[in-house]
Amino acid sequence: MKRRTLAIALISLFVISIFASAIPTVAQHTAQRQRTTQSAQRTQTSTRSTRDEALWQRALAIHRRAIVVDTHNDITTPMTNDDYDLGGDPPYPYRTSIDRMKKGGLSAIFFSLYVKPWYVQHGGAARRTLDMIDSVYRAAERHPNDLMIATSATDIRRAKAQNKIACLLGIEGGHAIENSLPTLREFYRLGVRYMTLTWNNTNDWADARGDKTHNGLTDFGKEVVREMNRVGMLVDISHVSDKTMSDALDVSKAPVIASHSSARALSNVARNIPDDLLKRIAKNGGVVQVNFYSLFVDQKTVAPQSDERNARLKAQQEALTAKYANDPERLSEESDKLEAANPLPPLPISKLIDHIDHIVKVAGIDHVGIGPDFDGANDFPEGARDESMLPNITYELLKRGYSEQDIDKILGGNFLRVFAQAEMVARKMSRTISGGGSTRRINK
Ligand SMILES: [Zn+2]
Repeated sequence: MKRRTLAIALISLFVISIFASAIPTVAQHTAQRQRTTQSAQRTQTSTRSTRDEALWQRALAIHRRAIVVDTHNDITTPMTNDDYDLGGDPPYPYRTSIDRMKKGGLSAIFFSLYVKPWYVQHGGAARRTLDMIDSVYRAAERHPNDLMIATSATDIRRAKAQNKIACLLGIEGGHAIENSLPTLREFYRLGVRYMTLTWNNTNDWADARGDKTHNGLTDFGKEVVREMNRVGMLVDISHVSDKTMSDALDVSKAPVIASHSSARALSNVARNIPDDLLKRIAKNGGVVQVNFYSLFVDQKTVAPQSDERNARLKAQQEALTAKYANDPERLSEESDKLEAANPLPPLPISKLIDHIDHIVKVAGIDHVGIGPDFDGANDFPEGARDESMLPNITYELLKRGYSEQDIDKILGGNFLRVFAQAEMVARKMSRTISGGGSTRRINK
């Protein structure tokens, strides 16, 4: 979710001309990539040699038995733009494939329907969402032995029993519904099971992180939350402002999720969740799915590195922004490639596990899960860089003394509980999807 902010960050960045002369050539990029790969291999080897083999085997056994749910993956963008087939190798710099999901013991994945704010300004946000939904159905049709579309907690369990990966849909950015409750319901009918109320852009009814335009949710925003409760779509409070989180917690009759956010006490960025709201999410019965993106894991270490990189790449990024001014998808793809070719030094995986520990301490063992944000960012901790590496999380949790039962909860059990509870709330509120539902739309 964040590398798309690179261009925006750059605009606000002061840059000294000496950086221009320091911009690396393509050959330097390649050399750097090779160095990074070599050092990554070295690290892997040393990790392996120091690994407690008995504990690792135990971790693998627990992991294979567990239902492992990733609530946020952005591979949907190249699936939609380039018809990328999950059965093959992902195009650079993306990292998700069926092979890697299987290797990582993944049981269920939420494909993010991330709709760039560009579509709000230029029109077509709902159509973009539909195009992305189609790409997920296409993937499931292409690979019926490996994937199945899922729309409920029961479906996820069924997929696990059939040794398939459950594919679910989550909208990232409430602007996708184009201010229409009927459109929200239509997305539910197509299988969408969560909606992040905003992306980083404030929309007409909810403030995004750090913003105060509406002081949280507007009346229509509250109606959106109630309608989501009524049909059974999970309310996702990642990306929103603290006041929007608080309002959503006030209004929601069902437990909420944060599909990909970490703990602000450990990494002070507005995208993470402060302790007081972690406690409220626990009280609401919800779950926080930890984001693996390095900046959200350790802002103190990563922000200066990231700023330095942004400054170094400024001229190249500006050239891309000018070249693809009318092609937002190509612009973000090329920006991703540029950033990925200039990786930051990886954090140790322990820093990521610290977030799980912290949320357990503040909110309790029943309120934490994983939402890595793979393919929504480039920089991740060592050993937690793509779906195939998820067993490392289980190993690290065992190392810290978590029980098998606790690990089950973190890997997916907590999310399944929340999902099932939201379904129950919906059944209590209404017998049909449209029955009694408001047809309200706002025009702005
Ligand atoms: Zn995001």
